[in-house]
Amino acid sequence: MLIDLTELFPYEEKTKEYQVSYDLELADGYEVTKSDSLVLTVTHHKNHMLDISGAGEISVLIPCGRCLEPVESIVPFSVDMHIDANAKTDEDGDDIFFIEGSELDVNDLLIDEIRMNMPMKVLCKEDCRGICFRCGANLNHGSCSCEVEEAPTRMGAALQKAFADAMNKK
Ligand SMILES: [Zn+2]
Ligand SMILES: [Zn+2]
Repeated sequence: MLIDLTELFPYEEKTKEYQVSYDLELADGYEVTKSDSLVLTVTHHKNHMLDISGAGEISVLIPCGRCLEPVESIVPFSVDMHIDANAKTDEDGDDIFFIEGSELDVNDLLIDEIRMNMPMKVLCKEDCRGICFRCGANLNHGSCSCEVEEAPTRMGAALQKAFADAMNKK
């Protein structure tokens, strides 16, 4: 969604609230399931100096850090910036790519904020058993056949113990 700022620029110290919607593609495997509209407050001080603020939350499917099953996660975010819409960069030297001329692109404005707030790691549950490193099976759904191969080792240990016991009896 685009906000047309031409209605603000002629006036100094003018504030307007915009009910905005957005539609983001974050990354492969990170499907957005819910992105409610939010209110963005834009104040034009003068000479295209703007304050932009607002807050919202987005629901995203994020792969579990252990088993890779998608986990629906709510990512809150907020925007609170003070920029010169005529400049190419903000105070931190970051590109202002979300304003072109007098149009503010809400998707471009929000995507960085949302990416920054994405959790580094989510788990489908605290005790997620993850996936088998050998066969890739999701161990939350039951054991894979790889574990059976460990049986001979346990049997071997039992045999060793029996042998040791037998030796001790002598
Ligand atoms: Zn998991
Ligand atoms: Zn396995």
